[in-house]
Amino acid sequence: MTTTALPTADDLQAQARSALERCGVDLDLLTGEQTSHSPINGETLANLSWTSADEVDACVARARDAFAIWRDTPAPARGALVRRLGALLMEHKADIATLVSLEVGKITSEALGEVQEMIDVCDFAVGLSRQLYGRTMPSERPGHRLMETWHPLGVVGVISAFNFPVAVWSWNTAIALVCGDPVVWKPSETAPLSALACNAVLQQAIAEAAAPANLSQVVIGGADVGQRLVDHQDVALISATGSTRMGQAVGQRVAARFGRCLLELGGNNAAIVTPSADLDLTVRGIVFAAAGTAGQRCTTMRRVIVHESVLDDLAKRLTSVYERLPIGDPTTDGTLVGPLIGGSAYQAMTAALGQAQDEGGKVLVGGERQLADAASDAYYVQPAVVQMPQQTQIVTRETFAPVLYLIPYTDLDEALSLNNAVPQGLSSSIFTEDQAEAERFMSAAGSDCGLVNVNIGTSGAEIGGAFGGEKETGGGRESGSDAWRTYMRRATNTVNYSGELPLAQGVDFSV
Ligand code: NAD
Repeated sequence: MTTTALPTADDLQAQARSALERCGVDLDLLTGEQTSHSPINGETLANLSWTSADEVDACVARARDAFAIWRDTPAPARGALVRRLGALLMEHKADIATLVSLEVGKITSEALGEVQEMIDVCDFAVGLSRQLYGRTMPSERPGHRLMETWHPLGVVGVISAFNFPVAVWSWNTAIALVCGDPVVWKPSETAPLSALACNAVLQQAIAEAAAPANLSQVVIGGADVGQRLVDHQDVALISATGSTRMGQAVGQRVAARFGRCLLELGGNNAAIVTPSADLDLTVRGIVFAAAGTAGQRCTTMRRVIVHESVLDDLAKRLTSVYERLPIGDPTTDGTLVGPLIGGSAYQAMTAALGQAQDEGGKVLVGGERQLADAASDAYYVQPAVVQMPQQTQIVTRETFAPVLYLIPYTDLDEALSLNNAVPQGLSSSIFTEDQAEAERFMSAAGSDCGLVNVNIGTSGAEIGGAFGGEKETGGGRESGSDAWRTYMRRATNTVNYSGELPLAQGVDFSV
């Protein structure tokens, strides 16, 4: 089932303009030379002016001034600002979700889900604002206290990818604000309007709280604008989300100036399907993780490592569901698969399918372009399932499109080593009713990823846990658990109240 008509440029522009207005953004003040397109119809969505490199420097300078005030504001008062941000995001949930759909093509329920994630992380951060705990350790010296305190770190530069155009900002910003840090955000050049809306909503919360306006700033532009932020000596932490190629460049540059870096990069996520798996649940879990967001999540399931005894059954069930996936206008009720972000994603998908076939793969379903007659610059595709003889070269790469490879295995050791035999280490899952298998998968000798799930797909993480992955995924952790520590600096304090001066390790230095 596929949509047959797509909205016009006028429709989408009008929707964008009114959503922005409700969030407090006057598009007329921002008009410029750079054209952004909607993947829904491939046509112009807005013409904006971008930030120059000099303006980036000025933003960082203003953020430093804001830092001097904000670091001395009590953390629970910082939390109150984030509480208000959460409430305003709730009020503007539909507006921001609309902009996300228009700019990156997410279906409405996923776009609303992305904004809900922003609201959830605000809740988490408000609680955290009273829990930025340091430890007290037993001192080896009499009459001494040994403890650690956590202080605000400084300006945080956030660089985000197109596919989570607003949630990634909120994971960073809600936590950074309660930790005492201002944020300068370089959103994806594909999604500037969503970013401007979020910033305007936060500005409203900042004004109501009489907090420094420059706690939140947005710089719009491409890699060169991001790079200026990356190289700036006064940006204490760069939190960068995107491709491994981007992370390689950014990580090295930040390291060269001894800055701190949090990298959230590409994934190549697998599920192991064992003989005991509940196949009804497994198929539902796979289809959402592999075809949802048109295969454009960092946690998208790209590989299914399936026991040979259930391979045929699983392949048949997946093919039948994939043939029925509703593809088309992401803002229409019932659509489950929206467009790819653009032509290069479609070309990457076609090239991957070609290479997979050269390497012995058989395309079971999908790969065909849809709706090209309705909009020649929009790229809708039928998600694909490809049966591979083994884990060949193409399978080890992240192709950011809905291509799912099925790879057979015979014993669990082999499945575990296939799961780990890729350069990326973001998300993974196992479908099994055998507890011992599940425990092995989660053990030190099991999956080497940052997210290790049982009987659930690889995507759709909650904000309460620390999010991120190993190896080429970059090693960063964002959002919940103790990820906040990356946004603060730790001081270890030794206090002597003994009136004597005993030295550590029994050193005698009497003169
Ligand atoms: P991308 O790497 O092309 O761009 C990401 C961001 O980095 C953009 O804002 C871009 O302008 C900026 N950028 C690019 N090169 C830069 C440089 N040298 N210096 C500074 N900034 C630079 O990625 P994309 O196409 O927007 O997103 C898709 C990729 O992001 C996929 O690989 C996906 O797996 C990954 N991703 C990872 C996560 C995660 O949490 N691990 C989340 C979302 C997306």
